Amino acid sequence: MRARAWLGGLVVLLAVAGAGAYAFRGEIATRIFEQSARHAVGENLREELPDGLHAIFCGTGSPLPDRTRAGPCLAVIAGQHLFVFDAGDGASETLQLMGVQQSEIEALFLTHLHSDHIDGLDTVALQHWASGASREQLNVIGPIGAARVVAGLNEAYAIDQSYRIAHHGPEVMPPSGAGMHATEFAVPPTDGEELELWNQDGVRIVTFRVTHTPTDAVGYRIEYAGRSITISGDTSRSASLTQAAQGTDLLIHEAISPRLDAIMHEAARAAGRENVGAIFHDILEYHTSPEDAGRVAEEAHAGALALTHFLPQTPIPGLTDTFIQAAKSTYDGPVFAARDGDVISLPQSGGLVRSHHLRF
Ligand SMILES: [Zn+2]
Ligand SMILES: [Zn+2]
Repeated sequence: MRARAWLGGLVVLLAVAGAGAYAFRGEIATRIFEQSARHAVGENLREELPDGLHAIFCGTGSPLPDRTRAGPCLAVIAGQHLFVFDAGDGASETLQLMGVQQSEIEALFLTHLHSDHIDGLDTVALQHWASGASREQLNVIGPIGAARVVAGLNEAYAIDQSYRIAHHGPEVMPPSGAGMHATEFAVPPTDGEELELWNQDGVRIVTFRVTHTPTDAVGYRIEYAGRSITISGDTSRSASLTQAAQGTDLLIHEAISPRLDAIMHEAARAAGRENVGAIFHDILEYHTSPEDAGRVAEEAHAGALALTHFLPQTPIPGLTDTFIQAAKSTYDGPVFAARDGDVISLPQSGGLVRSHHLRF
């Protein structure tokens, strides 16, 4: 009887405490926000990571909608240097949530000019300018056509830039840092040819043609301190990628599941949406199955394989396991299904370390 009364009292006490906490939830949330904001504003992922080469997954999605994945984006930290490869929709926001300081981007390389790889460029350019009072424009390096894209975006945002300069003043928003400038290169004409685009402070970046017809598409290999990352970009199974990736520590490869794509194709046709069905049929031609991505990794003797640019979207967690199992059927090394917020580190001392750096 006494125990029951004691229990009843405890329940009442908890209910009163709960009601009190509920009444003050706005104040409690504000205090938590204050703590988080102090940490977030001062955060710099580059300074937290050890010397080495790091792959920062700032967008692992594709053109298909998936709220858990931004459009294609990979940042690479090489020692003290920060580079970004492609900027799909949501890439800049994901970089912010990972504590990557976009004002520090030395160059943003494009793999090709499909919309899903460039539709977040504007926001990266804004953050490059606004978050660090940059006096130089974002440096965009890409295949021929990149300058036209950049000129168009600069024009589209010229009015916005004038408002920001007028509102905050030129000290906070230096006019010379607004927008982007482009450096174009001719995609190497034949498979197996490489073009060196960067060679400074121990960081070397080369590009090579991949197969994503009718676009002029490239992949990249980044080398620093004896470690390397190779990026496929968008491609069907590519011999030049296999060649460029020889001995790489980490191959980051796009992937399309033919089985899941067939489900989308059939669903579109059953709904009478023939054009959407045709698109799901056509995209198989210029993307790579996870089995073939595994074959490329195996033939290149890659140290590890990270799959990204998932096609179709993967809204159910177990779906990425089907990609991993397929790639493991053709490749003996470790296979990862990259998520937004993942970091794969290749420390100078050797080995491979995975971590996750996505805040709320
Ligand atoms: Zn794409
Ligand atoms: Zn593409």
